[in-house]
Amino acid sequence: MIQEATILLQEHSLRVTQPRLALLLVLFRAQRPLRAQEVADKLPKGRADTATVYRSMNALVDAGIVRRIDLDAHAKFFELDRGDDHHHLVCTLCQKIEDVHACEIDTITKQVLNGSTFSQINHHHLEFFGVCLACSQC
Ligand SMILES: [Zn+2]
Ligand SMILES: [Zn+2]
Ligand SMILES: [Zn+2]
Repeated sequence: MIQEATILLQEHSLRVTQPRLALLLVLFRAQRPLRAQEVADKLPKGRADTATVYRSMNALVDAGIVRRIDLDAHAKFFELDRGDDHHHLVCTLCQKIEDVHACEIDTITKQVLNGSTFSQINHHHLEFFGVCLACSQC
């Protein structure tokens, strides 16, 4: 995974540094969006606080390696940007997060454009919030 992370940084013309590699490894292993706090907790002991994670993460976001997503009002979430179009389903009780791959974005984009004064739409955010099965049985 170190090799994958190194290549990713090089492909995006970012300097390969230990903190960046450490962040990417955490995201590779997580397979789901993480809060900055969760990333900091998973780093080798004493490596970074949340503020440092935010700073390093922002460079990765700017480079297009990592996506920053709004899944709750209190914290930004980060996940690897695999270049695919997917969204998230969040349980508002236990914070469980699932990926959602259904997205009729072409249809919606046409409708949005037709009713607007814009010439193009480049990206979109769409997240779903609800109650997961486990929580609904409590
Ligand atoms: Zn739940
Ligand atoms: Zn995701
Ligand atoms: Zn989409």
